[in-house]
Amino acid sequence: MTEPTVSSESFSFKAETKQLLNILIHSLYKEREVFLRELLSNASDALNRMRFEMLTEQNVLDKEAELRIRITVDKEARLLIIQDSGIGMTRAEIIENLGTIAQSGARKFIEAAKEQKSDFAQVIGQFGVGFYSIFMVAESVRVSSRSFRPEAAAVSWYATGEDNFEVTAADMAERGTKIEIKLKEDAAEFADEYRLKNIIHKHSDYIGFPIYLGAEEKPVNKQTSLWRTARPEITEEQYADFYRQLTLDFEAPLLRTHNVSDAPVQLYTLLFVPGKGERGMFSVRKEDGLKLYSRNILIDEYNKDLLPEYLRFMQGVVDSEDLPLNVSRETVQASGLMPLLKRIVTGQVFKELENLAKTDPEKYQAFWTEFGGYLKQGIASNAAEADKIQPLLRFRTNLHPENWSALEEYVGRMAEGQKTIYYIVGDDPKSVLRSPHLDYFHKQGTEVLLLTDAMDSFMLMGLHQYKEFELQNVAQAELPEQPQTENEAEKIPETDFNALVERFKQTLSERISDVRASTRLSQSVARLVDPEGALNPEMQRVYKYLGKDFEVSKKILELNPSHPILKTMAGLAPASELQTLIIEQIYDSALLAEGLHPDPSSMVQRIQQLMAAALGTAKE
Ligand code: ADP
Ligand code: MG
Repeated sequence: MTEPTVSSESFSFKAETKQLLNILIHSLYKEREVFLRELLSNASDALNRMRFEMLTEQNVLDKEAELRIRITVDKEARLLIIQDSGIGMTRAEIIENLGTIAQSGARKFIEAAKEQKSDFAQVIGQFGVGFYSIFMVAESVRVSSRSFRPEAAAVSWYATGEDNFEVTAADMAERGTKIEIKLKEDAAEFADEYRLKNIIHKHSDYIGFPIYLGAEEKPVNKQTSLWRTARPEITEEQYADFYRQLTLDFEAPLLRTHNVSDAPVQLYTLLFVPGKGERGMFSVRKEDGLKLYSRNILIDEYNKDLLPEYLRFMQGVVDSEDLPLNVSRETVQASGLMPLLKRIVTGQVFKELENLAKTDPEKYQAFWTEFGGYLKQGIASNAAEADKIQPLLRFRTNLHPENWSALEEYVGRMAEGQKTIYYIVGDDPKSVLRSPHLDYFHKQGTEVLLLTDAMDSFMLMGLHQYKEFELQNVAQAELPEQPQTENEAEKIPETDFNALVERFKQTLSERISDVRASTRLSQSVARLVDPEGALNPEMQRVYKYLGKDFEVSKKILELNPSHPILKTMAGLAPASELQTLIIEQIYDSALLAEGLHPDPSSMVQRIQQLMAAALGTAKE
């Protein structure tokens, strides 16, 4: 390899790149071999881009040249050369791409490398700085390149991993990029063809262009993309590797579906449900969407038209033979084929999820915990697809608060003659169980869905019915039968009760719209309900979550005429201070039960007074 010529120009690497190089050069990585994967992946990108350009561009250098990668070695000289016939780089491009462009990935990689200590270099490519992994094995590197644009001159880049790199004119006639690596002494193994062959099989077998080694005429790699490889030939490790490469998600995916179909369209899909609902900090998928290929050519990195929006957490690749090749990315979107592809791909996802729910309920719960919110959103925004989504929904209920139940299971457990699916909305699954609205249902042993997720209220906008069963909020539901009237003797006599109601009205005055007797409370003293015509409770929540101003209609306070506390109160002389305290506390407790109390700690003072009174130490 020649030393840089005098006419060369020197550039300084970006600060974070310097730091990155420093880490790579001085750390001991076990799997240094991945540098080859990175270089081959760059070559493959460059070839892909070339093929894509040629769809529309006629004026191309070496138009007829085979799209391929060639690797040669000189063992004695510890030299490894990787040459592709890809898109190449102009002088400006090489300066920018290999050194001066600011790389957010570099900083992220540095942080991650510090924390993870382990073999982090393995996934360096996913930070968008894969090229620099070359310095794990290189003493020096020369990159020569000739752009596909016939007018551009060849250029050469030289670096040793120090702070600077040199750029000179190069003498290169053919299109593409050639990378010459002078290997470090302890990296001589990478100038061995046999070793290289193994690395290619392990990491780069499915690169879609032939990789020739030495003078061999036959490519080393299989060349099919993983998604085009027959399933039985793929190992779990290859799938795992592919997923990690795609997403830089260190957690294994929850689910995978790999399909090949010929009719009605020629289609390959390899899709994953990630392990977590939130995209990881290091995720390389910067947007939602699937990678769309047409006959192995990447048409769209983030295609959002292949799945409904609520399935946007899916990751993976879709490749169709039937997308017309002479199309731009824009016209692919408009192509009549897209709706059909979307139907098929969506169908595959649903089939896989249904299957999981059936065959591995435990794993399905893990899915539900992470992604249930997306499906609920699907119901809210695609009422038309509710039928498809409903069977995938899971709920906690008052009778099975620890488990997730499907609507089908709820229906299966219904009492004879029950026509309604009941639910309650609230803020958290524990406190909602103590809601006074559940008194009647607890007593009857009727099952009620506990909807305590913010998304639930939105979901309810599109979920009114499951099969022939209507859904109803227990706070508003018409009861199927009036609860058995308690022994009349248990109740407060009517005149006393009316007097008590008056005391409540006077004390609470403007804060409520009415006070009345309830027929359906048993354990609870009181509950708050909405007056006729008010926005239903879930819509109130929707407005609250959306931060919309709306007039909260005043509530009606319903009292339990058989409750011992009220009975005792009815017997007391009216208008004592203690009674006022109790009325206030009953109201506050009801607010609290509804999740509506604006300032619960304000109750502490009053509760102390009540305790003192209970102990007979109240100051009169
Ligand atoms: P990434 O591949 O994620 O963009 P890399 O650090 O691997 O990041 O490569 C940096 C850039 O250098 C590439 O985006 C590309 O523009 C350019 N590059 C690297 N190798 C080649 C090549 N063989 N042919 C053309 N351009 C290349
Ligand atoms: Mg790369």
